[in-house]
Amino acid sequence: MFKLGIALLILVLLFDVSEAATPVARDCHETEKAGEGSWYIGDAAIMGTPIHVELWSETAPRACALIEEVMAEMRRIDALMSPYIETSMLSRLNSLGSSEQVEVGEELYNLIEQSIAFSRLTNGAFDVTYASAGRYYDFRKGERPSDETLRQALAAINYRYLLMNERRHAIRFGHEGVYVDLGGIAKGYAVDRGIRILQQHGVADAMVSAGGDSRIIGDRKGQPWVVGIRHPRAEDANLAVLPLMDVSVSTSGDYERYFERDGVRYHHIIDPTTGDSARDLVSVTILGADATTTDALSTSVFVLGREAGLALIDQLEGIDAIVVDGSGVMHLSASISQMNQNNTVAQVGAK
Ligand code: AMP
Ligand code: MG
Repeated sequence: MFKLGIALLILVLLFDVSEAATPVARDCHETEKAGEGSWYIGDAAIMGTPIHVELWSETAPRACALIEEVMAEMRRIDALMSPYIETSMLSRLNSLGSSEQVEVGEELYNLIEQSIAFSRLTNGAFDVTYASAGRYYDFRKGERPSDETLRQALAAINYRYLLMNERRHAIRFGHEGVYVDLGGIAKGYAVDRGIRILQQHGVADAMVSAGGDSRIIGDRKGQPWVVGIRHPRAEDANLAVLPLMDVSVSTSGDYERYFERDGVRYHHIIDPTTGDSARDLVSVTILGADATTTDALSTSVFVLGREAGLALIDQLEGIDAIVVDGSGVMHLSASISQMNQNNTVAQVGAK
């Protein structure tokens, strides 16, 4: 549980840019002996993002088999939910959903249903149909939609256009041009699935992460896990380092995928009301019990901005936020602030 932290969450703020200790590893290997066994890590690139699994096991073959099982699960989810894979069920929905009801299967149906719940919670800031306009950005090529394309696409952004048939696990679009992308929630979901697999095999101490979404269970043989929050303006550096146990942590930043044009940064987190990138914040980190929730909320708070975003988080039990605004100043949700009263957080130079 997130209570975890209360005793352990001592924010260690690094006022200067410092080196993040990112292990450079591939496949599966032992990193450190601990008690009767060792820590093992495995890395892969799946879902267009680095996947990292770290766990304690008594033997190497068991550790590596478990890590491979988690990676296989990530590949399965990617094949089902990627909008870039032509044969995925999500691609099928995107190509047929405007003309017919598409049976997408229980798992994809449920994740879209959960996405809609986050849309309601955030008053539409989180909306997987953002992609009706978002699909016209190409961050690698530095392309954005023309005003006319954007105007038409905006009319197709609305989670209420996802007409859900629960009995058949089928979805139909209530408007032309609706396009769904689960990039704001699917990595968190995949992390939760990975952790579930490890738990089913009796693993007590582990971390699974997919890009900016991580979940940890247990501890490191009596010590907390140490999770670094990436500095939004310095690659390979940490903004803060959090000692944590049994928690999920998701970070959304405007540095993940972006290009600049005339001094304006166009990045991958889109405000559904404008079809333009959200610009109040540069980084949002959410802490909570499960990674599906922290992933969706990190994207949501990024869109909502500092004031509305932190107000939302303060209403949610067991969820916390650390946000960095455009001037590089860090702001904390109420319960982290309280935990942190006696010490460390004064201000941060994140610029
Ligand atoms: P994250 O990786 O969690 O920071 O989320 C960013 C991803 O979420 C983007 O790459 C898009 O795939 C997706 N996304 C962007 N804007 C939104 C939005 N307003 N609602 C839901 N998903 C979004
Ligand atoms: Mg997210």
